[in-house]
Amino acid sequence: MQTLFISDLHLDNKRPEVINYFTNYIKNLTDEIDSIYILGDFVEYWVGDDDPAIGLKELFKEVKNKSKIYNIYLMHGNRDFMLSKEFCQNLGIKLLPDPSVINLYGKQILIMHGDTLCIDDIAYQEFRKLVRSQSWQDEVLKKPLNERIKLAEELRKKSLKETESKREIIMDVNQKEVDKYFLKYNVDLMIHGHTHRPNIHITSLNGSKVKRIVLGDWYNSSFILKYQKDKVLIEKNSFC
Ligand code: MN
Repeated sequence: MQTLFISDLHLDNKRPEVINYFTNYIKNLTDEIDSIYILGDFVEYWVGDDDPAIGLKELFKEVKNKSKIYNIYLMHGNRDFMLSKEFCQNLGIKLLPDPSVINLYGKQILIMHGDTLCIDDIAYQEFRKLVRSQSWQDEVLKKPLNERIKLAEELRKKSLKETESKREIIMDVNQKEVDKYFLKYNVDLMIHGHTHRPNIHITSLNGSKVKRIVLGDWYNSSFILKYQKDKVLIEKNSFC
């Protein structure tokens, strides 16, 4: 048996090949799988559950079908944090808090989206605090759908521009913060996405080895982590 981890698909109508790939992947899934964990940024942005989500209808249908067979979990990312609990429930998806500790085949694993580890990016952390507040979200949800879509597009452009000017290191995780999470949750394995820097980092912490697995994004290929007892496999495929 195995458990799948994915993140940062950034599903977007502008990249239908990615939506098609994931829809078919889910539809044809016959492997022995216990659960699927989506660790944030599943969609490029989500402005409220009245979002028509053009292009995602078939995918959502397949997810709902498969949720009757597998446990499908979702954690919010910095793009899709407005996906509501009710919306997820309707698809059979269980929404998980960030961070969460799960037990897989006898092992405790800390799972996160990963943006909370990037504390050197002070401007982003300020922005995160604002948009994750209930009052900001309530205000935004009062706006008509077209205005919300416009706002999301603007924020996306702004973040793209800022990303270009920020130093690479600022946008990566802060190692001290990573260690803090390992200690706080008393785990030696962590899985997250967000940074789009897939890797397996093994470091030493208070004399013991700890492992941090970073999932890859779905820009140029798919990225699926297959977790089995004491074994990790990474599957990457091109979309065509
Ligand atoms: Mn992210």
